[in-house]
Amino acid sequence: ATETTDVRPTSRRERAEAERTGIVLVMCAPSGTGKTTLTKRLLAEFPRFEFSVSHTTRQPREGEVHGRDYVFVSEQEFFAKREEGFFAEWAEVHGNYYGTPRDATLQKLAEGRDIIFDIDVQGASQLQGSLKQGCYVFILPPSRSELERRLRGRGTDSEAVIAKRLANAEKEMQQAHWFNAWIVNDELDRAYDELRSAYLAATLSPACHPGLVGRIMKDWRDDV
Ligand code: 5GP
Repeated sequence: ATETTDVRPTSRRERAEAERTGIVLVMCAPSGTGKTTLTKRLLAEFPRFEFSVSHTTRQPREGEVHGRDYVFVSEQEFFAKREEGFFAEWAEVHGNYYGTPRDATLQKLAEGRDIIFDIDVQGASQLQGSLKQGCYVFILPPSRSELERRLRGRGTDSEAVIAKRLANAEKEMQQAHWFNAWIVNDELDRAYDELRSAYLAATLSPACHPGLVGRIMKDWRDDV
């Protein structure tokens, strides 16, 4: 006979975790700050996360997969969807359009999935207007010279592109004030610890646990 393993949550803590709604974790950072590395680590540690796949009018890069990295659409399709109110947020970045589908996002949250977003600052600010239950993280480089050193170290960008990224970094950091969490990525392991702490703290928000206190209170008087 095959033995079945009971995977139902048993402790109160596990139950609360299983019954909570999902949260959004929005990661914004100037280019070269380590956002992609930190995001990948979080996705690997917490299987509950799903990556938000955006629509874009940009051409696919080598190795990018339609539906996994982005949904690649024409400008005409993008504008039509935007008119319909399909996007929870959208922005034009470096001459291309990007947007996050609204219904799919809300559906996943209701199912209790957590969603990680890699979007620009303009988009993050729009999203924050409608999706408050979440964690909006801004990752900062330790200094201008360190960011410059990292951008050069990648060896992929021309001098002109590096200068442009540094100027953009300054503009983006001017928007950092409204985020929930600031993480300075001067040492990757420490930055990652801070990121996972910010995420875990956000999952304790009452908005993620509808009915939790009510369930405990329900049998309160009999529980003596
Ligand atoms: P890339 O074309 O290099 O993949 O992305 C360029 C920029 O667009 C990045 O800063 C990325 O965070 C941002 N981006 C990607 N998807 C979205 C989206 O759905 N909305 C917004 N607002 N920005 C996005």
